[in-house]
Order: sequence, then C-alpha cells, then structure tokens
Amino acid sequence: MNLAIHGNPMNPSPLRTLTLLEMCQSMNELHQIHAQTIITGLIKDTFTESKIVSFSLSPRRGNLCYGRSIYDQIEKPNSFIWYAMIRAYFNDSNSHEAISLFNQMLHFENLEYKFSVPFALKACGELAAIIEGKQIHGWVLKNHYNSDVFVLNALLKMYVDLGEIRVAGQVFDRMDQQDLVSWTTMIHGYMKFGELEIATNLFNRMPNRDKDSVTWNAMIDGYVKYGNIKEASKLFEGMPDKTLVSWNLIIDGYAKGGDIETARKLFNEMPKRDVISWNSMVDGYVKCRKIEEAKEFFDRMPQKDVVSWTIMIAGYVHNDLPKEALKLFQCMLIERERPDEATLASILMAISSLGLIEEGKWVHSFMGKHGFKVNGVLGSALIDMYSKCGYIEPAHKLFTDIVPKTLGHWNAMISGFAMHGLGKIALELFKEMERLGVKPNAITFIAILSACSHSGMVSDGLMCFQIMRERYALEPKIQHYGCIVDLLARAGMMKEALRVIEGMPMNPDSMMWKVILSACRKHGEANYGESATEKLMELEPNDASIYVLLSNIYAMAGRWEDVARTRMLMRERGLRKTPGCSSIVIGGVLHEFLAGGDSHPQYKEIVSKVGEVIGKLRLEGYRPDLTQVLLDVEVEEKENSLGFHSEKLAISFGLINTKKGMPIHVIKNLRVCGDCHSFIKLLSMVYDHEIVVRDQNRFHHFKNGSCSCMDFW
Ligand code: ZN
Ligand code: ZN
Repeated sequence: MNLAIHGNPMNPSPLRTLTLLEMCQSMNELHQIHAQTIITGLIKDTFTESKIVSFSLSPRRGNLCYGRSIYDQIEKPNSFIWYAMIRAYFNDSNSHEAISLFNQMLHFENLEYKFSVPFALKACGELAAIIEGKQIHGWVLKNHYNSDVFVLNALLKMYVDLGEIRVAGQVFDRMDQQDLVSWTTMIHGYMKFGELEIATNLFNRMPNRDKDSVTWNAMIDGYVKYGNIKEASKLFEGMPDKTLVSWNLIIDGYAKGGDIETARKLFNEMPKRDVISWNSMVDGYVKCRKIEEAKEFFDRMPQKDVVSWTIMIAGYVHNDLPKEALKLFQCMLIERERPDEATLASILMAISSLGLIEEGKWVHSFMGKHGFKVNGVLGSALIDMYSKCGYIEPAHKLFTDIVPKTLGHWNAMISGFAMHGLGKIALELFKEMERLGVKPNAITFIAILSACSHSGMVSDGLMCFQIMRERYALEPKIQHYGCIVDLLARAGMMKEALRVIEGMPMNPDSMMWKVILSACRKHGEANYGESATEKLMELEPNDASIYVLLSNIYAMAGRWEDVARTRMLMRERGLRKTPGCSSIVIGGVLHEFLAGGDSHPQYKEIVSKVGEVIGKLRLEGYRPDLTQVLLDVEVEEKENSLGFHSEKLAISFGLINTKKGMPIHVIKNLRVCGDCHSFIKLLSMVYDHEIVVRDQNRFHHFKNGSCSCMDFW
C-alpha cells in the first residue's frame, strides 16, 4: 500500500487517516499512520487511539512493546484499551503483567470490567496465584458481577485450574443460572481430579446433554483414564450421537487395558476411521506383546503419521527386537516421515542395546542438523547411548556441555560410570550433584548403589543407602535393597546380605535370590546356593538360568552327581538354557555368534583363529577353567566347548578383521564366564589389543593383561 499523502502533508484529512488505519497491514504502515495522527492531533480521539493500540496488540502482525509505549502515554485508557492490554499480556504468556494491569484498572472508575475479569482470572489460574484469585473473587461479589454467567464461568475455570475443585463446586451451586460452559467446566474438573461419582452425578443432571458430545467424550475419557472401562463402555453405548472421537476413546481404552479383542471388534464396527484409531490398535497389540499383529495393522494403515511410526519402533524396542526397530526407522526416513523426540529416544535405545556406535553418532548429528535440543530427554538418551556403546568419554563430554542439566542427565551419567565400573568417579559426580543442590531421586540411588556394587565399594554403598533415607527421606524400593544385597554378596559378605533380605519390609523377588546365587557361584558357597535355589524355584520354576547357575556351583565343588541331577530336572521340565550370543560390528555390519554355532560364512577361518589364539595363550600360561563347563564330560571335550563360547568366537573374528590399534567392541547377552574373562585378559596382553566387552551387567575394558572390573563382576 502506498501511504504517500496527497494534498497538504502537514494536514491530512482525519477521514483519510482513519481509512488508512482500517486498511493497515503491517507495523511499518502503522508507524507512519501513528506519526500522522500525532501531527494532526487525531491521536487524542479515543476511537483512533483504540484502533492503533488494538492493531499493535494483534498477536501475529503487532508488536506488544509498541502497543505498551502508546498505552503508557494515555492518561485515561478506556475500557477497551484496558481489556486489549490485559488480554495481550495473557496471550503473550506474561500472566504477571496481566494481573498487575487488572489491579491498576480497578483504580479507575466507571469502566466496563466484564471482559477484562476473565483474563485476570485465567492469569491467576495459570500462575497458581491463589491469593490474587481469591481477591478478584471477592471483588466480583462486591461489584455485582455475581449474576454474570460469563464472569462466573471464568471463576469456575480458575478454581479448577488452581485445583480447588470444592470451591468451584460452591460457586457453581450458588449460580442463578448455569449455561453449557458452566456444566462442562465442572464435569471436566471433577473428572480431572478423579471425582468420578460427583462428575457422573452432575452429568446425569446436565440439561440438554444429548447435544453436547464433547462432555460425553470427557466422561468416557475420564473413566478410561481411571481404568473403569466398564462404565466408559456403558456411557459409550448410551451415547446418542457417537463421534469419531468417542469411538477412538473407547477403542483406545480397550486396547490400553489389554482387551485387544474387544478393541478390534469395535474397530471393525466403526463407521469411519482416522489415523488415531489405527494408532490405538497398533499400540494395543504392542502392549499385549503381539508384535506381529501390531506390524500387520501398521502395514495396512491407509495413512501413517509420526506417532504411528514411533509406536511401532518403540514396540520393537520394548519387545527386545532392536534390529527390527532400526530397520523400521530406516524405512521411516526413506518415506520422508520426520522423526520427533519420542522416535529418536526410542531409536537411541535400540542402538544402545545393539552397541552400534556409528548409528548412534549418526543420530546425534541428525539431531544437530534438525534442531533437536540435547537439554531434555534426548540428552539423557545420548549419554546413555555413548555409555552403553562403550564410549564413556564422549558421554562425559556431552554431559559436561549440557547447560542447564536436568536430573535425567545426572542419572544417565552416574549410570554410565556405574556400568563401566568407575565407582569412584560416579561417587564424585554424585557428591558434586549434592553440592550444586540437585535433589537426587530413586533412580539416582539405583545408579549410585550399583556403581558402588560394581566397584566393590561396600562402605560407600552402605553410606549412600543411609543418605537416601536420612537426607532425602526416600523409602528404598526393592531395587535398592537388591543393590545392597548385590553389594554385600559380591564382596562375599553372604551372612550380611541374607540379613538385609530378612529385614526388608517386602518379600524378596527372584532377582534378589539370583544375586545371592551368582555370588555363591563366585565364592564357591554351595550351601547358601542350595537354599537360594529352593526359593527361586518356587518363584520362577521355569527360568532355566537358575538351573544353570546351580549346576555351575555344583561343578565348582566337583559334585558331578548333583550337576547331573540338576540337568535332569531341567530336561524333565522342558527348559533350555538361553544360548550365549555375542555380537560385533565390522565395517558397519553386525555379526552375531551363538555358542557353538557354525552358521557364519567365515566359520572355518574363525575356528582356526580360536585354535591359534588358544595355542599362543597356552604358551603364556593360560589353562582353561574347566569348572565353567556345565557337563561332566571328558577333559578334552570340556576344553572344546569352552573354546566355542560366543565371545571367544566374536573376538577371534574381530582379531581377523580389525586393524591393530583399533579396540574390539563385543556385546554379550549373558554374563562373561570366568574362563573367557581370563582368556580375554591374557589375549589383550599377548596380542597387544584393547578389547571392550559389554555383558549382561556391565562393561569390561581389557588392556595389557588386566580388566577394568578388577576381576570383580
Ligand atoms: Zn565363556
Ligand atoms: Zn572384567
């Protein structure tokens, strides 16, 4: 628009200025018009003044500061200008200023407050400013707004936002007449605070409720959220006009509640579906661990959004299928669906469990390129990824660079140090956290206790356990007791460990007995082992690892008959030992080795490498530790089965394919056995090769003949 003013530039006609004001499109134009009104004195005209303020306060085109500067020069702003200012500050997330302006407005008389009060009340709700809110409530009563349903509805909403649902109820009951907004505000409020009965009561009394599907849906949603699918279903059935939202809510309710069959039946009956309906079904199948059905639904979706992809990827991750998660993530990128924070957090978990550092780095740089910030959940996920892939230094660097840090970042870093057996550093970090006034939570203590346990720091661990209760008033959960039992049992303090179990306020779980059982194996305590096994067999009769642990303990004690008996029991119950599996990434490809498995294309070469390594190590004094073999078999055969433990295969494969000076990273699904541990230690020296092994519990960094775990794992 050309604002050139024809005629006398010093005296443009007021009419023309007003026309320009009506057509104004940008702040630039407004500046020019504003200048004209000052020249002509038109600015003193209330209408013009209001128009200029109003434009500068418009959320998209305006400029709040400019509007404020005009407002500040107005001696007696009119009702509209007050209202526009208060609303603008509230919409600009400056609720403090909105309340302050409203208080100033009250000093001026003969104004219309009706439209400003609701924004002041909203601002109080937002800031949880209960005192100011009550003051405005008092003012409302004194100034005869107590029959204005518009103002009273705002008051109801404020009390609901402040969590004062009872006071809201009193206001509601005293209203001369309630409109649809009043009813729905109250019903939503009661539902929000779990007052299902009162909400239902109100809902049943609500006039014209059949026309208001939003409130029906709020009721259904509330019942679903509080786990009462029966009531939700009853409401759904009785609903006169079911909307797509209602269908989606009820299907999601059944799916989340685990009744996927009913969800599916309803899904099939739906008159119309959208992406939300499909997502609920995929999510439901994922939660029931029916991952194939979930994928079937996912593939059939006519349209997918980022949520659909994320549900499916997270589903794979939580069902221990990280490779499938990664594959799907690649498809997602190919189909040009942009991942969000949740997708990336899930995919980082998959990458961590596979130990694929290159993929992890790729996600990290992807985040940088696409503006994802590391100061939230993703920061913790990245720290976790670097630690779990064996790269504790980059994890620490990332942690140091994050400002400000959240508790999640501290927890991830302490866990990282714990996993790597860096107990002292973990403890230092914990102390620094305390110094900075960051309040630890239950997860922090699991991390710090397991750090102490992995490093054999018994007295530090016990001290942290005490701090947890006394300084932070956190009641230890079973996981914390588990850490303490682990700490004591690993250190061979079996009696003390058992005393902790006896003194716990809860029943010991199978994890606890497994800790005792593995400690018994480590310290060769067959007697304690037998009683722990009895307890375990009651709790988890079908867990093969228990039988394996017990037979290992018997084997160590040379009690071969008991070994055979345990094996027999295992066979009778149809249980099979989880096969050991180790993986290694070479040239970007993941190679997996199963104990004794021969499916790898380079199998022959690998076996001869294992033979070569064993031969070399024997010269340096390596003797296979035969107590680690489950079966009572001839010595040579035992040696053979030891040679085929999956980590030995993976490391030998790594030796063939890795240049000197590059550390070999291996991930194992079970705990590293004692024989493999001493084998790898010696190998790291003889071959002068750094080897990093992540087993079920922690990391082992092998270098120059020793391991970072100090043989304590
Ligand atoms: Zn082994
Ligand atoms: Zn080790």
